[in-house]
Amino acid sequence: HDAKRLHSGFHRFEQAHRHDADARLSLLGDLRRALDDPDQLTLHYQPKVAVCSGALVGVEALARWRHPSRGPISPAEFIPVLEVTSLMHRFTEQVLTMALNQAREWLDAGHRVPIAVNVSPRSLLDPAFPDRVAALLAETGVPGDQLCVEVTEYALMSDPEAAIEALHRLHGLGVKASIDDYGTGYSSMTYLKLLPVDELKIDRSFVKDMADDQSSRALVASTVELGHSLGLTVVAEGVEDQDAVHALRAIGCDTAQGYHFAKPLPAEALTAQLAAQPVR
Ligand code: C2E
Ligand code: MG
Ligand code: MG
Ligand code: MG
Repeated sequence: HDAKRLHSGFHRFEQAHRHDADARLSLLGDLRRALDDPDQLTLHYQPKVAVCSGALVGVEALARWRHPSRGPISPAEFIPVLEVTSLMHRFTEQVLTMALNQAREWLDAGHRVPIAVNVSPRSLLDPAFPDRVAALLAETGVPGDQLCVEVTEYALMSDPEAAIEALHRLHGLGVKASIDDYGTGYSSMTYLKLLPVDELKIDRSFVKDMADDQSSRALVASTVELGHSLGLTVVAEGVEDQDAVHALRAIGCDTAQGYHFAKPLPAEALTAQLAAQPVR
């Protein structure tokens, strides 16, 4: 009797998995088609601003996918699906191409807006990646220092030697590097010292609770101090209200990003803002 129940339980389990696998496969097929379709895959740009003055200091490019029948699908849903396949390389290439073309367009209009691009572990650890970046910079004529790669602690820790090598090669091109979602991984301080990065981005989860939660505030403050002692710029992500801005200013955090300042915007919306308030 038990064996039978076990069997039917397993059958359901197996079916659920097959269902998941089918869903992933069909999403991948759809993604493959989306890659070359400018109506489906676009980038939005979220301003990064100086905490002290509110001036725009750069933007983060965030992928947006409008599925032809399902509508918008969040990167939180499709990035993990891509990451376990080699299609991730094409996706990263596409995102970089779109971002650098946009940087070129803004440069031509007289706006120097550094663009940060999220680079997944799989792409960062691809030995061909730095050469691809070099080729795209050369094709678009965008100076390397106008590009920043955002990588998570996880990517850096999964194969530290390869990650460090990749970041050194990117630095050789003038490209900056940022550790995204800082505080959610487990990079040791010793290790942090060895990483060729320019920026720490404190994860939203700490920033969100900062105004009312003393321990979050202490964590953010000590991260800012740590970053500064290593010569890094520190960015707070997920800044949603003025209280957070005040706290960040008191702590001496350099840069902020979040809905309080602006949501991720289509390029045209940002272009209009740039025209009104040029970057220094
Ligand atoms: P992330 O790199 O940490 O990006 C920040 C996320 O927080 C973005 O979500 C952004 O829209 C959201 N956000 C910004 N300000 C606020 C705020 O004040 N409050 C709240 N609640 N959220 C805020 P999004 O665009 O859905 O992207 C989610 C994640 O997907 C990104 O996290 C990044 O890890 C990944 N991702 C997005 N685009 C790309 C891409 O082109 N390539 C790769 N590899 N990953 C990407
Ligand atoms: Mg990011
Ligand atoms: Mg982040
Ligand atoms: Mg995040």
